[in-house]
Amino acid sequence: MTARALTALSEDEQLFRDSVLGFATAKIGPHVHAMDQKGALDPSILPQLFEMGLMGIEVPEQYGGAGANIFTACLAIEALAQVDPSVSVLVDVQNTLVNNALIRWGSAAQKERYLPKMCSEWVGSYCLSEAGSGSDAFALRTRAERRGDRWVLNGQKLWITNANESNLFLVLATIDPAAGYRGITAFLVERGTPGFTVGKKEDKLGIRASSTCELVFEDCEIPEENVLGEVGKGYKIAIETLNEGRIGIGAQMVGLAQGAFDYAMRYMLERKQFGQPIADFQGMQFQYADVATDILIARLTVYNAARLKDAGLPFLKEAAMAKLTSSRLAERVASRCVEFLGGVGFTKEYPAEKFYRDAKIGQIYEGTSNMQLQTIAKMLQAEYSSR
Ligand SMILES: Cc1cc2nc3c(=O)[nH]c(=O)nc-3n(C[C@H](O)[C@H](O)[C@H](O)COP(=O)(O)OP(=O)(O)OC[C@H]3O[C@@H](n4cnc5c(N)ncnc54)[C@H](O)[C@@H]3O)c2cc1C
Repeated sequence: MTARALTALSEDEQLFRDSVLGFATAKIGPHVHAMDQKGALDPSILPQLFEMGLMGIEVPEQYGGAGANIFTACLAIEALAQVDPSVSVLVDVQNTLVNNALIRWGSAAQKERYLPKMCSEWVGSYCLSEAGSGSDAFALRTRAERRGDRWVLNGQKLWITNANESNLFLVLATIDPAAGYRGITAFLVERGTPGFTVGKKEDKLGIRASSTCELVFEDCEIPEENVLGEVGKGYKIAIETLNEGRIGIGAQMVGLAQGAFDYAMRYMLERKQFGQPIADFQGMQFQYADVATDILIARLTVYNAARLKDAGLPFLKEAAMAKLTSSRLAERVASRCVEFLGGVGFTKEYPAEKFYRDAKIGQIYEGTSNMQLQTIAKMLQAEYSSR
């Protein structure tokens, strides 16, 4: 099915990827349609994600994680997205953003307190965006003021993935709006902290089973020890986690495209018109050959970025390229797959239309396509002007 791309994987990586795909097909697959309709996760799924070890992939073994790397996380995110991009993004945010930030910037005490929970029972959210600050992320207004040995948060966050399921929220706030990005500080906020509420859930086009909610902070007191990293250095945490997060979103988009294509290919081999399978018409063959090639291109850009990161090499430009390419290709592939199914592709009884709706988000979250292009252009300018 994906044999050529899988030659890029070691035997262990391939086994891992296959086991996640097998799990997703058997245990998530039967719920996908209902979850999309309801706009909520089936309660059976979260415990199984923890049992499978998918919620702490990069967390060191001493804290109960798998001690693996971002490439492994991408394999899981991709395999899950092949079945359901909503479950995939839940696992993506947990691993590539929240756990990653805790592993890199958490104090010894924070790691002891939170990482075992993240591997066994707690979901995390990454809370940067606000109504007035999206692409211009550091224009955020959520305020943190020091009162004695505590910090007090006031403000609102918007678009927060996993908010309904999360127990731990990594919140970016400013200690001094006049200081610009230098005022930004990261805080760890636990669900149930007085003054903190999860607000309205968005009614979305796609990834409907993934919760996306507003957060409200009203005189929410956070202990000093819940500052993540240094005061005033939250911008660094935000930038660096998102740099890695983009690779994960790229993996989600690759999985989505593969899931849409797998279904469409099987359909084209079975569906007959003019007395023969539609897959036999050259007009169709040229199209699905193109689509399969697009998926391979997207997959290789993502694998390349993840491998660079794991090798400790510069990966920022390649991560932006991977997200840009895979999200564009996923939308195009999913659209073609709707057409490959003809009329039934346009109905909710078949999975093609859901993959198409789900694909759109890849060009928006964790930096829109324009922001990826901006990053790539900046890196190119720097590279070429230093030659
Ligand atoms: C389903 C969903 C889940 C999300 N999950 C999270 C989450 O978990 N945590 C979180 O913090 N955020 C999350 N977000 C927010 C997401 O990251 C932002 O929506 C995204 O960064 C875009 O910001 P915006 O919506 O304010 O759009 P805007 O920034 O207003 O952009 C609107 C348009 O203007 C373009 N644009 C803006 N500035 C420029 C520029 N300088 N040059 C060229 N074009 C520009 C953009 O490319 C875009 O096309 C989520 C969003 C969605 C929809």
